[in-house]
Amino acid sequence: MSFPSRKSRGRMICTVCGIGTTKKVEKKHQARYNGEPVEVSGVEVYHCDHCGQDSLTPEQARMYSRAVKNEVRKKFGLLPPEQIVAIRERAGLTQEELEELLGQGPKVVTRWESGSVIQGRSADTVLRLIEREPELIKTLREIQRQRSRQQQRYTSDGSPTPQPAGG
Ligand SMILES: [Zn+2]
Repeated sequence: MSFPSRKSRGRMICTVCGIGTTKKVEKKHQARYNGEPVEVSGVEVYHCDHCGQDSLTPEQARMYSRAVKNEVRKKFGLLPPEQIVAIRERAGLTQEELEELLGQGPKVVTRWESGSVIQGRSADTVLRLIEREPELIKTLREIQRQRSRQQQRYTSDGSPTPQPAGG
């Protein structure tokens, strides 16, 4: 697939061959995400009647990327973005608080919730635990305090400042 067609006198001229005109169609597409094959249907693209190439507008490319990630979530049984929002809000946590409790870097929860990044399986499990047992938040806060005490002890020994694990 290639990038957007240019509009010329109301017709969308194919940017691949420069001859054919493109028409909006919905297709099935075999995609890969981190090496995992998934099939997404209903992908909206512009199809050229001359060379047969498909092209996407930036908006279509975003929709396509979102559809692929939704399919990956379904394939691996991971929570959809809306459900992550719901779990966090029910727990009364901000995105930043949840990032800290899960040991995730800044903006990670924001990206899960916007659907641009898929949460890992272990984070998905903790989110489901919080959903079932809201009391676990207290335990997670306790773990967080314990961790920061350990880090303070480490740094007060004159050792280098530990870097939080990413991802
Ligand atoms: Zn063409």
